[in-house]
Amino acid sequence: MKVFKFGGASVKDAESIKNVGEILLKHEQDHVLVVVSAIGKTTNKLEECLNYLLSKDKLNYYHTLDSVHDFHIDIVAALFQDKHGKVFRFINEVFEQLKNKFNLPLAENHSFEYDQLVSLGEVMSSYIIHEYVCELGIKSQWLDARRLIRTDHHYQEANVNWDKSEGLITAKLESSVNNTNTFITQGFIGHTDEGFSTTLGREGSDYTAAIFAFCTNATEVTIWKDVPGMLNADPKYFKNTQLLTKISYREAIELAYFGASVIHPKTIKPLQNKGIPLYVKSFIDPEAIGTTIYTESEHDHIIPSFIVKKNQLLITISSADFSFINEDALARIFDIFYTLRLKINLMQNSALNFSVLVDGDKVNMQSLLINLSPTFLCKYNEGVELVTIRHYNQTTINQMVSNREILLEQRSRQTARFVIR
Ligand code: ASP
Ligand code: MG
Repeated sequence: MKVFKFGGASVKDAESIKNVGEILLKHEQDHVLVVVSAIGKTTNKLEECLNYLLSKDKLNYYHTLDSVHDFHIDIVAALFQDKHGKVFRFINEVFEQLKNKFNLPLAENHSFEYDQLVSLGEVMSSYIIHEYVCELGIKSQWLDARRLIRTDHHYQEANVNWDKSEGLITAKLESSVNNTNTFITQGFIGHTDEGFSTTLGREGSDYTAAIFAFCTNATEVTIWKDVPGMLNADPKYFKNTQLLTKISYREAIELAYFGASVIHPKTIKPLQNKGIPLYVKSFIDPEAIGTTIYTESEHDHIIPSFIVKKNQLLITISSADFSFINEDALARIFDIFYTLRLKINLMQNSALNFSVLVDGDKVNMQSLLINLSPTFLCKYNEGVELVTIRHYNQTTINQMVSNREILLEQRSRQTARFVIR
């Protein structure tokens, strides 16, 4: 079995979905399990809907839902002839349900509501793509990840139950129709023991591909992207980027963790554990070589890589009564960050201060301040940047940070990181 993953950008409109169809036609003779994300920016839009739902803003809730509905219907209309066919009915039913949601009581746990609503983006995209490739003559079966990937109840960032998921997935594939060679399923979503939908964290579809690969002992995973593979820097900000043609799992996980947004950092571990190679390839130029992630470090093709995370918030926490930031204080601070689901991009401490860097758009400063007080005081700098240089030297450091004010820096043998403004 091969596993393919197509992200939101690779299915952003009807033309892109046709391109996915072409790629799948070329692999018609293989056994392929295809994981897809929601179309384009649908997940963001559904998050917006959820906020309106939670704030009981009926007008904006319906208005935003309508725009997501129209967007999907336009794509379906460009892909299918029959205006009353089952894909139209499927999409219309999803939005009927969503509209009705406004009149139903809401769970106290907003993350639960998030998962029930936002998971539908992937449900719709996978169904559209499945029906579309069937029309191309591909023997495709639609798989519902809400029956196959079993998770705990940590809504919005659910943890996979590997044994149960493996059992469910293998049973499903064994019982599937003999002549199916393409399976299409959703990224990002799973389900609890009771059958409620869960999500695996934003951008989690790559991780889903790795879960299916692990559970089916796949021979390889390909993530199809709008870039030629993993590059040593983001082409949005850098001119002369280089393709990393072959890198180790270790290098890939470090780059992803530091913020190279090409693959989700959780993707690598399941693949490394089973020795499954990961290819990152361009859906625009599918024959091009791309990146192969496999092997151990000695095969690494070491060139400096640059990762820039913009819009960071540098938060400095100190104790209100001049006590040390010791293990006990750190444990309490981490507990607050964990509860508020704040991800730390970098941290550093001194006797009296603990500094952390988080994504500026993911933090609700007010609730952080409430949670930290009265024990801790807190100061922060907005709009700073985090620059990471993997395999740095003095020249690359000068290139990245000269003429900038360095607020904080850290270096290990392989990696230099700077918080600058
Ligand atoms: N659709 C989800 C998101 O945008 C998952 C993914 O694309 O990987 O976060
Ligand atoms: Mg995405």
